[in-house]
Amino acid sequence: MAESAYKEMWEKLNLDIDAHEGLLEVLGKFYGDIYLSQQGRLQGAEYLDFVLSEVHGLRIKELQDAKAQGRKIIGSFCVFVPEELTLAADAVHVGLCSGADAGTEMAETMVPRNTCALIKSFVGFKLAKICPFTESCDVVVGETTCDGKKKAYEAFAEHVNMYIMEVPQQKNACDHDLLRAEMKRYMEELEKLTGKTIGVDDIKKGIAIANGKRKAIQGLNALRKADPAPISGRDALLINQISFYDDPVRFTAKINELCDEIEARIEKGEGVAPKGTPRLLLAGCPMAVPNWKLPYIVEGSGAVVVGEESCIGSRNIRDLVDEDATAKATTVDELLDLLTDRYMKIDCACFTPNDERLDNIADMAEELGAQGVIHYALLFCQPYSHEAFKVDKTLQAKGVPMLAIETDYGMEDVEQLKTRIEAFVETLES
Ligand code: SF4
Ligand code: SF4
Repeated sequence: MAESAYKEMWEKLNLDIDAHEGLLEVLGKFYGDIYLSQQGRLQGAEYLDFVLSEVHGLRIKELQDAKAQGRKIIGSFCVFVPEELTLAADAVHVGLCSGADAGTEMAETMVPRNTCALIKSFVGFKLAKICPFTESCDVVVGETTCDGKKKAYEAFAEHVNMYIMEVPQQKNACDHDLLRAEMKRYMEELEKLTGKTIGVDDIKKGIAIANGKRKAIQGLNALRKADPAPISGRDALLINQISFYDDPVRFTAKINELCDEIEARIEKGEGVAPKGTPRLLLAGCPMAVPNWKLPYIVEGSGAVVVGEESCIGSRNIRDLVDEDATAKATTVDELLDLLTDRYMKIDCACFTPNDERLDNIADMAEELGAQGVIHYALLFCQPYSHEAFKVDKTLQAKGVPMLAIETDYGMEDVEQLKTRIEAFVETLES
């Protein structure tokens, strides 16, 4: 993890230096155990190691440099916040991670104890003053997806400058109109914040960058169909996680390079686990940095993770903004329509009904040759815990076994999870 060369910058950001150092130490050790210990890693994984080692260093310095040039930093917690528009305003879009237990006790003074770990984490990171990303943000964009987040943002707004975007919960024509109006309102908010009028070419540029990033990960996911699996689920998850906070153009170039290396590896028949290793798909709640617990346990249990049906995974990259229509568009209104069309396809569990997700999971399992699915819900997450039953039923009908897991960011249940996952993997082998 980044060194004390950045201390002055962290002090300026008003971080609690001791608590922050403690966090970096734990993260560094965790990363070493889970990532650097892997055998047969790709050379291109050096990029991942570099980004992670500099996540609170160089990347934060880049954000400060951008701010010094007058650019604004926008933080978000959800894939519904359209990065295309942030980029169109020449602002920087960062995902605020929320994948670790930190400041939990402080968080519980603001949100109920029975709240999911993700929410407690973003509140805790702020109250404990340990997240340089949160401290760098000019605005944090929240959304009205689940009730937990909605209410937590009210409390969070006492500590950060918040903007709330309304996200519909159904997919009727009026819901489409609502999201379309919200796209426009977000665009106008960005214009106010940056003093820049967003034009057709700006949005087209934003779409090209975001689509480029999504296509790079789509390419990576297609390569994961190979057996032996050419990349570990841990590294693939990390790539998805990094896509939320690294510079998008650099990220795309690096992942495309990594895909070239993977292709060469597939041609040679090489992989991270022997051919025939049981293949699993993870489905459910987003796993934010540094939540690597589940893929680590799965891959230590004799299986390999071949896909992530999650917002930090396929849900964020499956659909592109229509490129042909974008090229033909001549007005901002047309482009906002296209953005809305794309975002309305997101199959978050906050929608009712949400049958698309069931089909998408079944399709993914088939395409990736997954013999089983692990459904992951954070404790106290109503939307995803509810959907676990439906996903199970859909997969059963297709003959694909599923294991439902509810957990949080703590390590207390690692042994118990390991036992359950090993038993599940054994049933796949027999
Ligand atoms: S799971 Fe739903 S609420 Fe959470 S990030 Fe994804 S789209 Fe947003
Ligand atoms: S994990 Fe579930 S409860 Fe937590 S923020 Fe996401 S949707 Fe809401």
